[in-house]
Amino acid sequence: MKIKAKLFLGIGLLFAMIVLLTAVGSIYINKLSADTNNILVANYNSIDYSRQMLIALNEDGFTTTSIAAFENNLKKQQQNITETGEQQLTDQLAANFNKLKNNPSDTALLTTVHDAVTDIILVNMQAIERKSAVAKRTADNASLWIALAGTLCFLIAFVLLVNLPGNIANPVKELTESIKEIAAQNYGKRVHFEKHDEFGELAGAFNTMAQKLEEYQTSNLEKLVMEKKRIETLINNIKDPVIGLDAKKHILFMNEVALNISGLRAEETIGKLVQDVAVKNDLVRSLIQDMFRPANETVTAKQEPIKIYADNKESYFEKQVIAINITPTGEQQEKFIGNVILLQNITPFKELDFAKTNFIATVSHELKTPIASIKMSLQLLENEQVGNVNEEQKNLLYSIKDDANRLLKITGELLNMTQVESGNIQMAVMATDIKDIVNYAVSANKAAAEEKKIKLHISPVEDLPSVLADEEKTAWVLTNLISNAIRYSYENSTVYISIKNTGNKIEFAVTDTGQGIAPQYKEKIFDRYFRVPGTKKEGTGLGLSISKEFIEAEGGSITVASDFGAGSTFTITLNAAVT
Ligand code: ADP
Repeated sequence: MKIKAKLFLGIGLLFAMIVLLTAVGSIYINKLSADTNNILVANYNSIDYSRQMLIALNEDGFTTTSIAAFENNLKKQQQNITETGEQQLTDQLAANFNKLKNNPSDTALLTTVHDAVTDIILVNMQAIERKSAVAKRTADNASLWIALAGTLCFLIAFVLLVNLPGNIANPVKELTESIKEIAAQNYGKRVHFEKHDEFGELAGAFNTMAQKLEEYQTSNLEKLVMEKKRIETLINNIKDPVIGLDAKKHILFMNEVALNISGLRAEETIGKLVQDVAVKNDLVRSLIQDMFRPANETVTAKQEPIKIYADNKESYFEKQVIAINITPTGEQQEKFIGNVILLQNITPFKELDFAKTNFIATVSHELKTPIASIKMSLQLLENEQVGNVNEEQKNLLYSIKDDANRLLKITGELLNMTQVESGNIQMAVMATDIKDIVNYAVSANKAAAEEKKIKLHISPVEDLPSVLADEEKTAWVLTNLISNAIRYSYENSTVYISIKNTGNKIEFAVTDTGQGIAPQYKEKIFDRYFRVPGTKKEGTGLGLSISKEFIEAEGGSITVASDFGAGSTFTITLNAAVT
């Protein structure tokens, strides 16, 4: 039976019983009240009238008052005839009393009247007794029926009290427990109400839902496992090493290439803390060192490729550490879930780069000798040691000399660049006389300055301490800076060369009043092969980048300050030699 029907039946029955009980109670109460009223009106009054009549009869002599009292009560009695035989007795009494009234001394008649009144009293007394018995029976019946209805009400209420709360609360409780289990992703949970009521239907619906969720989970799980396998295969097939870490830096995966180049086995790595693995493995250590730097410590130095012996040769890898952030479903904030370390194998590019550097080095080296011999021959021709040259030929010789010088500069720069690129800069950093460096650079640029009528203003260098530098490389850099200042200045201007001692540092500054450098190019001019767009003067774009490498290799720095349109100042800062 349905809960609704049960409730309807139980409460309805209880309601009906209460109505019945009230009806039975009121019927019997009415009946009892009618009975008592009947006794009171019908019999008690008759007895009372009779008693008043007897009192009137017993008074001495037959006075008009006693007659009037008798007749008054007789009249009332005549109107209150309720019992069988009472009418006859009352009529006889009235007749005899009339006779007595005419013959008051007739004692026999008085006795007859007296007896008639007593008979009326007797008839009514008997009626009262009979009616009392009936009222008692009515009361007994009422008690019985009320008790029966009460008991039935009690039984129904008791049955409802015992069964109904449990009937409703128990399935709700079981259902609540099951819903909690489902919420905890225990989709195997089922409810077992074998009832055919609403709870039975609810249980059926719940079990269907749980089953569907279970199926969904299983199918999803399968899908996820498939996807995981697919991604694992994909990662394993990537030719470059890949390492995945979770947010707490446990290794989640390392593809085969990563395992190969690190010489590790999967069981030594997967699930382990990366810093524990790094303790025993140099490669892993170098891969993660940036991840464990304090947040405020920033790395400005350019990341050098990592050199690893792989594929039976020296290989080069470029490292990329990618932080993985996701926004969980229903949340606003991004959450960090780990890192992926990618190593890109750049060996083929490196090999090409080596080949290019070697080629440039060889060509530049091979060019140096013929250029030197051209210069020597030019000198012989200039000095007219091999014969006279006319003006026109002299001009041609000048331009050949100019080109030979430029060629020599270019080959020199290219050679220096190959040194820088191959990492073979041979530095002899020692206490060096600043005067020697400055004199070399100034005399190397003298002819070019004269040609453009540019004055070279050199600050006094006499009282300066020695500088910690490689004389040849520093002189080359200063020469290059002065050469640039002359080349990018206007004719008849001045180039200032000033050397400042700032305590433990020596600053070489070359200032020109030329075209200056636009702010957006100030950093870029130190990049290899970079030339400010629109630069008319011939050049390779290598001078400043080589200068930077040389100066940094000496433990110094090179900077530029420029007022676009008004000139530039290039400053070399090197350590002063401690004396
Ligand atoms: P190059 O002079 O051979 O082109 P550099 O590396 O010496 O190569 O210089 C790079 C670029 O920087 C130049 O092409 C030029 O545009 C700019 N530059 C260098 N020095 C100056 C300077 N003193 N004034 C203005 N521009 C300059």
